[in-house]
Amino acid sequence: MTAEHSAAFDALIVGAGFGGIGAAIQLKRLKIENFVILDREDDLGGTWHVNHYPGLAVDVPTTTYSYFFEPNPNWSRLFSTGAEIKQYAGDVADKYDVRRHIRYNTVVESARWDEDAKLWRVTLAGGETLSTRYLITATGFLSQPKVPDIAGIDDFAGKVIHTTDWDDNYRADGKRVAIIGTGATAVQLIPVLAKSAAELTVYQRTAIWVVPKIDIRFSERAKRLFARVPLAQRAIRAVTDTIYEAMISTAVIRHRTFRRLNIAAADLAKMHRFASIRDKELRDRLTPDYDFGCKRPTFSNGYYRAFTKPNVHLQSEGIDHVQADGIVNSDGTKTEIDTLVLATGFDLWEANFPAIEVIGRQGRNLGKWWRDTRFQAYQGVSMPYFPNFLSLASPYAFLGLNFFNTMEYQMRLMDRLFTEVKRRGATTFEVTEEANARYLDRMTELLGDSLWTIGNCATSRSYYYNPSGEPSLLRPTSTKEAVREASDFPFSDYQIS
Ligand code: NAP
Repeated sequence: MTAEHSAAFDALIVGAGFGGIGAAIQLKRLKIENFVILDREDDLGGTWHVNHYPGLAVDVPTTTYSYFFEPNPNWSRLFSTGAEIKQYAGDVADKYDVRRHIRYNTVVESARWDEDAKLWRVTLAGGETLSTRYLITATGFLSQPKVPDIAGIDDFAGKVIHTTDWDDNYRADGKRVAIIGTGATAVQLIPVLAKSAAELTVYQRTAIWVVPKIDIRFSERAKRLFARVPLAQRAIRAVTDTIYEAMISTAVIRHRTFRRLNIAAADLAKMHRFASIRDKELRDRLTPDYDFGCKRPTFSNGYYRAFTKPNVHLQSEGIDHVQADGIVNSDGTKTEIDTLVLATGFDLWEANFPAIEVIGRQGRNLGKWWRDTRFQAYQGVSMPYFPNFLSLASPYAFLGLNFFNTMEYQMRLMDRLFTEVKRRGATTFEVTEEANARYLDRMTELLGDSLWTIGNCATSRSYYYNPSGEPSLLRPTSTKEAVREASDFPFSDYQIS
């Protein structure tokens, strides 16, 4: 039997989070309606569907943490809760009629380019195969939970909860709880658990930078104003965008010139620690030994104060092994616990780049190629030998702290590229090796002046760095530059045929 030579879909998107929803909206703007979105979960929203641990809130102001084209007048506060952000994802999907394209509970395993038919064959768990002309993976950067490889962890007889699989019925009241990890998730969760747990032991391997969260509640009057005069909300966005952008594109990316700004941020965190904790020894143990910004800093008013409660204990000696009823610490002491919370984050480089197996032209395996050469992606989306494929969660794609800025430039790139393909009556596009190499060289050169290259980051254990030690996760340009390049890149960077 010969394989079908016409694709069932014009486009197939993997992932129904904000990336997938944005890509779907862009396809609709391009009048491409014959597409499907596949997601392994049972609802849309991506990370905001999966994560629902207590205390979950965004740590970028929501005026900035939203699509450029879809401001939301209903945010209850500047730093909105996880539930509100999930609601926003649903509202946007409804407004743009995206929901009917989504197939839930569908796990994508692999995609293979069929050179003869000039289409992608996408294999699902269970064996079903779908064909599509364009493949877009929007699988997010932080989507594969990491379970730590700690001796004896499977022997623990009490309750184990990973923060990405929170049990909403769980109550910590009166329980002895241990939490492993002090990343952004733990920083939000610890103050909540500290309120009810009988004992809370926090296992810190690497201290995190924490600055105060300057939050405000939007009154009903303000929300009505935002709805009636969207420009008012845009003005607030301009301020929040500028502050975040300035931090990233000066203090971090142009660190060689603007390192003073970075030091000022570290000083703010230091003052915050000093104002929250009187005990100097405790303060010292919570003090990072790497530069501010080497890994994602966090925002919290309650994190440091939680450690001053009598029921909260910081354990920074390390874990030797886990037993059925507790944790044996590296110093030989044992902490007996009822619940073990794993706030251990995500496996970004091994499990997520790429999140599915992708085999391009001449059998090129994307994951293997990235590892055999270097992690790379032209404009954070395209790789040579992978025609008609956009990988939205790629090396050098993510613009600093705000995912929606990333989405904005990626949507503009889709707009320009797909419009040109259609104008030429072409069937395939593929980035040239020359354009890809040029982009990689430029990213490498820009990173040379960044905090991640010249800062003191060796002990940070930051997921910004790939296993070879290169900081190849973030795109070291401003949002403005990324949007401009996505809107006017030379068509000769792609082979369109
Ligand atoms: P994370 O930042 O990767 O933190 C994981 C924590 O677990 C780290 O403290 C890590 O220690 C620790 N850990 C991992 N394996 C361990 C082991 N074997 N032994 C001891 N400790 C171990 O993950 P996350 O906190 O889930 O946050 C991930 C990202 O999600 C954030 O950076 C942020 O971008 C995003 N996030 C955003 C929000 C928001 O409000 N927008 C909220 C939460 C998360 P080491 O540092 O020593 O590796």
